[in-house]
Amino acid sequence: MPLDEVGEACGVAGLWHRDADVARLCSYALVALQHRGQESAGVVTGDRRTLRQAGGMGLVQQVFDEAKLAAMRGHVAVGHVRYATAGGSTEANIQPLLGITRLGSAFALAHNGNLTGIGDRERSPDAVAGGADTQELVDALADRTDDVAGALRAVLPQVRGAFSIVVATTGALYAARDPQGFRPLCLGRLPDGGLVVVSETVALDTLGATLLREVAPGELVTIDDRGTRGELFADARPAPCVFERVYFARQDSLLDGVRVQGMRHAMGVLLAREAPAVADVVTAVPDTARPAAMGYAQESGLPYVEALVRNQYLGRTFIKPSDFERSLGVRMKINVVPEAVAGKRVVVVDDSIVRSTSMREVVQLLRRAGAAEVHVRVSSAPVRWPCFFGVNMRSRAELVASDRTVAEVGVLVGGDSLNYLSVRGMVEAAGGGPACTGCFTGVYPAAVPTAGHVHLERTVPAQIG
Ligand code: SF4
Repeated sequence: MPLDEVGEACGVAGLWHRDADVARLCSYALVALQHRGQESAGVVTGDRRTLRQAGGMGLVQQVFDEAKLAAMRGHVAVGHVRYATAGGSTEANIQPLLGITRLGSAFALAHNGNLTGIGDRERSPDAVAGGADTQELVDALADRTDDVAGALRAVLPQVRGAFSIVVATTGALYAARDPQGFRPLCLGRLPDGGLVVVSETVALDTLGATLLREVAPGELVTIDDRGTRGELFADARPAPCVFERVYFARQDSLLDGVRVQGMRHAMGVLLAREAPAVADVVTAVPDTARPAAMGYAQESGLPYVEALVRNQYLGRTFIKPSDFERSLGVRMKINVVPEAVAGKRVVVVDDSIVRSTSMREVVQLLRRAGAAEVHVRVSSAPVRWPCFFGVNMRSRAELVASDRTVAEVGVLVGGDSLNYLSVRGMVEAAGGGPACTGCFTGVYPAAVPTAGHVHLERTVPAQIG
């Protein structure tokens, strides 16, 4: 997906180490998770008495300089990178958020996901889309006459929706994941013994840490001087987000023990079997679709060419949401190597089409560079339904495939042909286990809010073209 047609909130990290610069290590982990959010970054550290907060708008390396990191001493840290959502681009949305329980226990909390309700409070679709859910979780914890561990044990079973959270107090680091495990969260050990919790394993690699295990769906993990302890606060009903496998996660991450790059390659292989094309070369919309394009090329026996080149130095937040500016954004982000495609029948593989503006522009770029034919292949199914679990696809109206057939989307995109991978193929390539496919099928693994605030476990599945 070249232009970040869709974003996600967010990436989280937590560290516990009695003898390390936890703020600096946390900032390094956040740099590795930067693809999960570029709007703002924040870190809270804790020593025996105090939690210290620092953060700002922009990339991690823009927010944290030497002076800021040097001032943040302690043995525990939690951090967060945030993607812009309807909650607005303001400093008030920078996480981690701070709270204090009625018993006087202070904590800092960072959240990846989107909550649909807490206790008897349901959140409307607009509220779910609008952010502020993390503050509601902090408020619910703060409302308890408990220490933080007690508050988490009391509140987490009542929380609905998607949450991978890290929580710091002066005496412990906590990590928890919703019963479906929508968003990833894993636990690792630093080379000299500290413990770390991060959204994706790439952050462990950056820190030289060893992957211990994933935080299990429905699990609360406590890390302190006594070690690491896990307990279930709810029965696990695993349904991790398949879109993480398709697009969001970094290809060098492991999800449930499987390398994302391999999953995407397999998606390309299955796509070539399901939707072959008579063509001369295969290329990818950089960067996330490259493994799928290579899989497609390998399976179809066509050469893979690097025809599209991405400018790595444009931040996502540069892009403004009007159609004109989206088109301009594609041209600023991606250029074409004419010699790779001139006079050739080209298969261009992308991992997803959400709003179509980006792919339309890519097709035009290839045609202007002399491609004889452009066949668009998508290594996921058509996105037809909103997401309520942490990805900012808020309404069907903004999804190009929600009320169009594949042929109609093909006309909009402007290629000589368009085909998607089937839902079955996508799930099979993603490992074949249980997964959320809600935005592709309209069937969600947990209750979703409706306009009337009536919660449905299932909605009518869409026809997959
Ligand atoms: S609805 Fe789509 S994006 Fe949202 S969690 Fe499910 S698969 Fe992921």
